Amino acid sequence: MSTEPIIRIEKASKWFGAFQVLTDIDLQVKAGERIVICGPSGSGKSTLIRCINHLETVGRGRIVVDGIELTGHQRRNIDAVRREVGMVFQQFNLFPHLTVLQNCTLAPMHTRGVSRAEAEETAMKYLRRVRIPDQAAKYPSQLSGGQQQRVAIARALCMNPKVMLFDEPTSALDPEMVKEVLDTMISLAEDGMTMLCVTHEMGFARSVADRVIFMADGRILEQAPPQPFFSNPTHPQLRAFLGQIL
Ligand code: ADP
Ligand code: MG
Repeated sequence: MSTEPIIRIEKASKWFGAFQVLTDIDLQVKAGERIVICGPSGSGKSTLIRCINHLETVGRGRIVVDGIELTGHQRRNIDAVRREVGMVFQQFNLFPHLTVLQNCTLAPMHTRGVSRAEAEETAMKYLRRVRIPDQAAKYPSQLSGGQQQRVAIARALCMNPKVMLFDEPTSALDPEMVKEVLDTMISLAEDGMTMLCVTHEMGFARSVADRVIFMADGRILEQAPPQPFFSNPTHPQLRAFLGQIL
């Protein structure tokens, strides 16, 4: 058994021009771990998780995903990591001109060479998994926000990822739809999926996370299991933050 973490981030720093958005981020995630990242707007949470699947590049330090080094620009490594990492965005990012089923089969067919029949079978499996198989023939605009986000989750799962990254997946949803998406995420967690979730849903963090991470100004200021994280926050900025959102 390898004890190598599935994600290893060492002293990662990043700049947008002269602005340092990430400073010396150290983070290791083991297979099966569930991590919640929270922190004020602009603290670098999205940038950090976008670096993990190389939508952004770090300026200094290392990111290794399942043994694949992501520092530098080796196309082969970037493609290999994207095959291992599924990502779900705040704004769903579904293809509007494709049906739900086509959204789910596009990448497996075109980047993996999976046959249409096999891709559709897998897509239907995951659409059942997120409990919307009956919406397969519809277009995204015909679905509610919660349903669209569940399609986005199913679409990511169709690539059979080892890690799922979520960037505020419920922030764009009407309140009554938050629960259906969180329930889907909870059930993924119960199945043992390795998950990194940027979210301010602290109920989710308490019940699902193995570790909660607080970021501010591009740094990790605190990380702890939910119980001490919420009951005994040590950093004053975390105390202030929790005071605002809880
Ligand atoms: P968060 O997700 O925590 O709200 P982000 O990672 O989106 O934070 O952004 C962190 C900071 O980096 C913000 O100040 C934001 O304005 C800045 N930023 C994000 N993306 C870019 C970019 N592409 N170019 C320049 N600045 C950016
Ligand atoms: Mg963000």
